[in-house]
Amino acid sequence: MCTVPVMETRTVLISGAGIAGSTLAYWLHRHGFAVTVVERAPRLREGGYNIDIRGTALEVVRRMGLLDEVRSYATDMLGSTIVDEEGHEKAVMSAELFSMHEEDDVELMRGDLAKILYDATKNDVEYLFGDTITALRQDGDGVDVTFEAAPSRRFDLLVGADGLHSRVRELAFGPEENFRRDLGCQVAIGTVPNYLNLDRWEVTYPMAGRVALVYRARQADEARAMFLFKSEGSLTEAFAGAGWEVPRLLDSVREAPDFYVDTVSQIHCENWAKGRVVLLGDAACAPSLASGQGTSVALVGAYVLAGELKAAAGHTKAFAGYEAQLRKFADLNQQLGPKQLKGMIQHSRAQLWFQLKMLRLMPKMPGKDKMVARITEPMREAANAVALQDY
Ligand SMILES: Cc1cc2nc3c(=O)[nH]c(=O)nc-3n(C[C@H](O)[C@H](O)[C@H](O)COP(=O)(O)OP(=O)(O)OC[C@H]3O[C@@H](n4cnc5c(N)ncnc54)[C@H](O)[C@@H]3O)c2cc1C
Repeated sequence: MCTVPVMETRTVLISGAGIAGSTLAYWLHRHGFAVTVVERAPRLREGGYNIDIRGTALEVVRRMGLLDEVRSYATDMLGSTIVDEEGHEKAVMSAELFSMHEEDDVELMRGDLAKILYDATKNDVEYLFGDTITALRQDGDGVDVTFEAAPSRRFDLLVGADGLHSRVRELAFGPEENFRRDLGCQVAIGTVPNYLNLDRWEVTYPMAGRVALVYRARQADEARAMFLFKSEGSLTEAFAGAGWEVPRLLDSVREAPDFYVDTVSQIHCENWAKGRVVLLGDAACAPSLASGQGTSVALVGAYVLAGELKAAAGHTKAFAGYEAQLRKFADLNQQLGPKQLKGMIQHSRAQLWFQLKMLRLMPKMPGKDKMVARITEPMREAANAVALQDY
């Protein structure tokens, strides 16, 4: 009798239903793996500000068949106003000038992307919401995982896609302080009422060492407020005495159901894999919010990791292949973080004055297109610094 070899279905547990986790779930399912995703939050986290999908990451989304849907959620921003403490307009920037976008890039709300990815996987993948891993033990054949709520289970592989403060990284690789590089800023984001009646428009109030922004994108009935500040203190302390709409926005943002506050940090890990455990997205190599590339790195990383697991003979080779392909891409995107943060927050009143002057002059400058191209060049290079294989 002729027997056909049966490929054993491999089981993979992914910790984190963010951008990296859901994208990996999609590709692993497509490659024949049995996937479980555990997410600490009781339901999908749809918070966040606008995020960008650029360069190679656009091709990942296209290969998922989701590019048109993603584009239909594009924020289609028109521009931005800079105001002073009394709300007086100090400069106006068109979308091309302030968004640093290439023609094909898509900007959408993080929550819209998270939902698109979740919807594309929810019928094929087991999602465990409101739970987290509390312990893990791996041997040559698998990983035994203990959950806070669900009964313990054994999986062939475990992926930490649980963000900057990854639990999997802590359990398998060591404490966060060994890997996290603080860029010296904090960020707070949340949904607020759109009482300024903004439409595809952002208003920015920059101060020395801090900045407050509010934004309403095309698809949202509400606005999002973001506060970025160079301080170890609380949000309230950092913005004490600030003018414009800051007191009202602060009151609203603290009440926001999707209130998100974190340090602006990067993750630098020498190795992304340990035995049967591997890290992905922010958990492995967060480039920071300032880089504007966290989402694109997560999308590309998920595609490559899943593809290598399909193609390579065994997880050890797959993890090595994943890391070899992604390292340079991740490094280049991380280099953007600290550089771009400098442009987001000015230290002194003199720097603020200079920045405003430049913003006012720029639209009138004869070589402004070349200047914008020069500013966006490192981002473009980093976003395209990996070639996708066909798996
Ligand atoms: C609510 C939220 C808002 C954000 N807003 C912005 C933004 O405005 N701009 C920006 O540039 N970046 C933002 N980010 C970060 C951005 O999403 C990531 O940098 C990028 O998309 C990489 O995605 P990731 O999947 O690796 O990490 P994340 O998107 O951070 O996803 C990690 C997921 O893991 C979950 N998780 C965390 N700990 C555990 C645990 N112990 N067990 C199980 N699950 C866990 C989290 O709840 C989250 O769903 C935000 C992240 C979140 C979670």
